[in-house]
Amino acid sequence: MKFTPEKLSIRDERMKPFIDPDEIWNIINNTTSDREKVRSVIAKSLDKQRLTLEETAVLVNASDPELIEEIKEGARELKKRVYGNRIVLFAPLYVGNYCSNNCSYCGFRSGNTEAQRMTLSDEEIVREVAALEDNGQKRLILVYGEHRDYSPEFIAHTARTVYSVKKGNGEIRRVNINAAPLDIEGFRTVGKSGIGTYQIFQETYHPEAYKWYHLSGKKADYEWRLTGLDRAQEAGIDDVGIGVLFGLYDWRFEVLGLVRHTNHLEACYNVGPHTISFPRIKDAAALDLDDRYQVSDDDFKKLVAILRLAVPYTGLILTAREDHDVRREVIQYGVSQIDGGTKIELGSYSDIKNNDQNLNREQFRISDERSLAEVIDELLDDDFLPSFCTACYRLGRTGEHFMEFSVPGFIKRYCSPNAALTLAEYIEDYAGPELAEKGWKAIERNLATIDEKIVGDLKDRLQRIRNGERDLYF
Ligand code: SAM
Ligand code: SF4
Repeated sequence: MKFTPEKLSIRDERMKPFIDPDEIWNIINNTTSDREKVRSVIAKSLDKQRLTLEETAVLVNASDPELIEEIKEGARELKKRVYGNRIVLFAPLYVGNYCSNNCSYCGFRSGNTEAQRMTLSDEEIVREVAALEDNGQKRLILVYGEHRDYSPEFIAHTARTVYSVKKGNGEIRRVNINAAPLDIEGFRTVGKSGIGTYQIFQETYHPEAYKWYHLSGKKADYEWRLTGLDRAQEAGIDDVGIGVLFGLYDWRFEVLGLVRHTNHLEACYNVGPHTISFPRIKDAAALDLDDRYQVSDDDFKKLVAILRLAVPYTGLILTAREDHDVRREVIQYGVSQIDGGTKIELGSYSDIKNNDQNLNREQFRISDERSLAEVIDELLDDDFLPSFCTACYRLGRTGEHFMEFSVPGFIKRYCSPNAALTLAEYIEDYAGPELAEKGWKAIERNLATIDEKIVGDLKDRLQRIRNGERDLYF
């Protein structure tokens, strides 16, 4: 049954807050962890079953270094089984940094009077997207502050503008959004522009801690944010992304919060989140935080592995906030998407503003500043298959249907062949000779992992790409 917005507050049980901090702390404090338990939880996960909060707590509470290694090994193995060796690539595009909220961790906060504010005009969006296409990007996430100027109509308009830009063989085939929570009508408006995933990070799932960082503005309403993606689902956006900003509260609580949110979405909409993001706080202009809850590199690596095991079918996104070395290691523990060639200063892909690093034009400082080509080069060295695939979303394999992912053979039948086809396009259009050679060798090697029923067809399509055709997919 669908609900009209005006009746929501009284009628819709699904929109009720679903986080009980005492319950989560009780589970963490009362769950013991030993070798036997850890191993049986890892085994359940390798059987591709989602973990309960209690089982997740068994992993969270494991402290023996050997057991932590086993957790990481389990995550590595599960990633191979569910996702194969492909890594999907994307880039963020910051559209506007006006913001009426005052989140104490963010350079765009209203209290940062030094911030240089800007909203890209249509023309500037076109220039930015053309520059991104020239680098070989096919998937973008558009990012916005929360401001009255960034209405659902505006967000929809900017997404359509991005899709309209075609430069050479370049085009953006999937536009995801990271913006403030909307009401149901607002989500409907944005959904009609053909977006992929709508991401909203809860920042912290702990209601009290949430208040420490969000003193004013609309974002101060914890529940409005927590139920944002329920409204998105209600509006027909069935690809949603959740996330936590690690460093605001105890990471163990946040991991269970993410699992609880996943349970909630699955129970209510038959489909869990499409992706989970786990940014750690980075330096930002006018940063106003203590480091009580700062997450160490070791805990960060452990928590990514735990998330992989806890939610086997949910994509994990790792961004350039992390430095090169951390990224290179953590990718192995189950990450499915990373950004490459990232610039987060407004207008910087096409040099609308001169390109010196300036924290007052950035939301925070990124750590991995490599170009897309460099990121691809290293992925190939590490035996990953870089992918720009957008096939599922364009063929309607989204939301509930995305659970088909669990159908045996899905990777061999769709993900790996589509990774090969999109990498081949990248090689033909954007790679230098050395990278091209390395890329073709990787495609050749990976043919052995593809469903034998379609290998012939795939080879034929790869040849068609060499002959100049584009946008072929299964
Ligand atoms: N303004 C919208 C919002 O807050 O939901 C969307 C965009 S916000 C620019 C994207 C995300 O960046 C936030 O949800 C937060 O998790 C993250 N972020 C903010 N400040 C950060 C910092 N200093 N370091 C790392 N990530 C940060
Ligand atoms: Fe604004 Fe989002 Fe930054 Fe908060 S995190 S100040 S809402 S841009």
